[in-house]
Amino acid sequence: MYIADLLSRSFMENKRLIKYNFDIEYLPGSRMYIADLLSRSFMENKSNIKDENIVAVHCLNLDLPISERNLDLLKTETARDPVLLKVKQFCCERWPKHINCIDNNEQLIAFSKIKDNLRIHNGLVFFGDKIIVPEKLRQLMLQKLHNTSHLGIEKCKARARKIFYWPSLTKDVTEFISKCIVCLKFSRKPPKEPLLQHTRPNIPFYKIAADILTFGAVDYLTVVDYYSNWIELVKISSKSTTEVISKLKVIFATHGIPTIFVSDNVPFNSLEFKTFAKDWDFDLITFSPKYPQSNGLNGLAERAVGICKNILRKCNETGSDIQKALLEYRCTPLTGVNFSPSELLNNRLLRTTLPATQNVLTKPPEIDIRKLENKRMKAKHHYDKQAHARPTFKEGDSIILKKEKHWVPAQVMEKTDSPRSYIVKDHLGNIYRRNSSFLKPSPNPFILENNAQAEYEDITNQSNNAHNSFATNDANNYDTPTTEIITESQPSIKTRSGRVIVKPVRYRQ
Ligand SMILES: [Zn+2]
Repeated sequence: MYIADLLSRSFMENKRLIKYNFDIEYLPGSRMYIADLLSRSFMENKSNIKDENIVAVHCLNLDLPISERNLDLLKTETARDPVLLKVKQFCCERWPKHINCIDNNEQLIAFSKIKDNLRIHNGLVFFGDKIIVPEKLRQLMLQKLHNTSHLGIEKCKARARKIFYWPSLTKDVTEFISKCIVCLKFSRKPPKEPLLQHTRPNIPFYKIAADILTFGAVDYLTVVDYYSNWIELVKISSKSTTEVISKLKVIFATHGIPTIFVSDNVPFNSLEFKTFAKDWDFDLITFSPKYPQSNGLNGLAERAVGICKNILRKCNETGSDIQKALLEYRCTPLTGVNFSPSELLNNRLLRTTLPATQNVLTKPPEIDIRKLENKRMKAKHHYDKQAHARPTFKEGDSIILKKEKHWVPAQVMEKTDSPRSYIVKDHLGNIYRRNSSFLKPSPNPFILENNAQAEYEDITNQSNNAHNSFATNDANNYDTPTTEIITESQPSIKTRSGRVIVKPVRYRQ
């Protein structure tokens, strides 16, 4: 059945063999002389093999490095999925010419458009090398895809597209993540700075940057590779040179010794570290973070620290495993580049808890350095354009508002006369005036919490001043937030300490 399926799809599709009429005959292994001979007398020079032949050979390799439990689950749900049942039936018999006349199911229509690349194997349906996930398991896959690492929408879409398929996959990923409470809470401020361009080497693990970050009471060593963006995040018991060196040795023993090591001063500028660099034969570039000129030199390490902190925060919030989240980051394609750090560094994807075929995991990525560089430039250009464009809001827009370290649900009440400045109400009913750099659009409808107790900030003696000085500030510096809170219904409120909160004149009607 499978061979017949393969012949009909892969060969016939190329239309080279369609003119022949095949008879398929069963032969026991002991009489397969030609196949036996071919397997012993393989071609040494592969350069003449055409791509389509490689595709055909790869088609035979559909091993599934999936645990028994998950495989059973996939098989059971595929067998129960009414759309996939029809897909299987049409693949085995033949697809109707006008599917929408027979069944107006959107998914089935979508499958009919890719019918030539659909395959049935081991009870599962595949689109090329990718597993088609039955509808019942799609939410679970989205949870597995996103909830281990809480990476952004674009990253998760690219990751999902690499390993599995269903119609509306990208739409479902977007919807799922844009509603993720953890991501909304720890959302980053809209980017302001254009992306720094590093001189990227064309060799994996040739140039790396290191930094130390502290999260909670724990210190971590972060190492990032300039070529692949592969990140190592290792817990350290102290910031001492000896401890850092011992962890770096493990990393170097895994990935090789870099030629260039970029870092800030502490503890990398110590004599002990310099001796280590000499002994392990790598060049050390250090800079002082106090000198603004050096900003950007270690930009990649700073970004890696940002990524790691985000992972740590989200794992801390959800109780998920940090190593699993890191693994997911390493397997997720870099923005604008269709390769993940793992593919760039190891030439393969790593197995995670997401179901993927052996081909997806073992097929070496076809990396063209020039194309890669172009893609990176394009991604940078796109990022920089977004970095300068701030969103504009209108009255009633559902947004998220940055309050101290976190983002909370809020709603735009009105736009002020000052540029990029808005009056907004948060989920507790507090009214603020905020610059747009503290606001981001939210896909979730705004809901005022019922038992919300609005906090009132004391703005006595500064309300009018604050307002006036803000107006000046706002015009000069768009990033200066106002801490002013404007109460909604009462002209003045007494705080616990007895001081009076005054509503700014323009909001007293
Ligand atoms: Zn999330």
